Amino acid sequence: QTIFIPKETDSTEPRVAASSETVKKFAGLGFSVVVEKGAGTLSRIPDSEFEAAGAKIGSAGDAKSADVILKVRRPSLAEFKGYKKGAVLIAMLDPYGNEAAVRELASAGLSAFTMEFMPRITRAQVMDVLSSQANLAGYQAVIDAAAEYDRAMPMMMTAAGTVPAAKVFVMGAGVAGLQAIATARRLGAVVTATDVRPAAKEQVASLGAKFIAVEDEEFKAAETAGGYAKEMSKEYQAKQAALVADHIAKQDIVITTALIPGRPAPRLVSKEMVASMRPGSIVVDLAVERGGNVEGAQPGKVVETGGVKIVGHLNVPGRIAATASQLYARNLVAFLETLTDKESKTLKINFDDELVKATLLTHDGAVVHPTFAETAT
Ligand code: NAD
Repeated sequence: QTIFIPKETDSTEPRVAASSETVKKFAGLGFSVVVEKGAGTLSRIPDSEFEAAGAKIGSAGDAKSADVILKVRRPSLAEFKGYKKGAVLIAMLDPYGNEAAVRELASAGLSAFTMEFMPRITRAQVMDVLSSQANLAGYQAVIDAAAEYDRAMPMMMTAAGTVPAAKVFVMGAGVAGLQAIATARRLGAVVTATDVRPAAKEQVASLGAKFIAVEDEEFKAAETAGGYAKEMSKEYQAKQAALVADHIAKQDIVITTALIPGRPAPRLVSKEMVASMRPGSIVVDLAVERGGNVEGAQPGKVVETGGVKIVGHLNVPGRIAATASQLYARNLVAFLETLTDKESKTLKINFDDELVKATLLTHDGAVVHPTFAETAT
């Protein structure tokens, strides 16, 4: 059986769904691998490296004979119409708000798995693409902030006197936020952080940052069974805004990462809060693709208002593409292993497996995922 790794067609996507390490593993699982020419270039993997790992270098047309297609983003309609009926497609398919595309994947007869839906259970940690990519985004957000910041991050004691450390405030202390805290600390910043989930408090403290939050009854109940945040009430949001307004005015760098699954990102930083920061301050909005946490943030742009720069880069994991691809590829190989029968070395999907139930969107011509099956008819 054959795995095909296409070059991503979205021009803003530098990542690739395989590495030389995972190509070797695929061979061990019994697959032969074809990588589209140039697929790894923007992730710094030359074709020769894939070849040395045992892959054949092919062209986009090779997709039509593949049994498994591994991608970063959802392929376009034109692309996946060329896939073999019954082929397995594994990618970040971004199904929310794209129900029509999900139906098309079904009519193309594909077994399409979406990696973002991987359950956050111990067994699936190695396949957790949201974590592998958010972790890098959190790191990169601090690097981007430091690059835009015209001052030094650490306290510096020099012959010419002392320079104070930058004050960094991280809003949303999930996977990305915790890595942002750790990275800012490594650069010597004084770090505070907030979240609406009580579990975050201890994690923030363990990284040496101070936790700031409205800790009322609603806060104590804000974590869902899946470990995610709930959308907070208007009252809570108002209390939170009052608390952070004073705090933000004293910060040099604010990094926002707050998301709520399947909902627009919560608005946490107002125009007035941005205006209260001193010139030269930086705000990085990692949620800009999902509606933004920061008023005035613009997708794909760095905007300056009143001397404060608001950074709204898109596809932040793609800004550290070589590492992001390496980890994403490992997430994929771990998942594919669960879809493969070790004895016969062939694909064998166990439809009772909770990982399959959670991630399989379409199969055998139908939309099978419970979230989308209802809206599909
Ligand atoms: P996410 O990307 O959905 O959200 C980022 C953070 O924003 C979250 O911490 C969330 O609580 C926070 N947030 C939401 N609304 C907010 C608001 N109004 N104000 C401030 N903060 C707000 O979350 P994530 O990073 O994917 O992590 C979600 C949870 O899953 C965390 O508890 C994480 O530790 C857990 N997790 C578990 C595993 C595992 O066990 N396998 C793996 C990864 C993550």
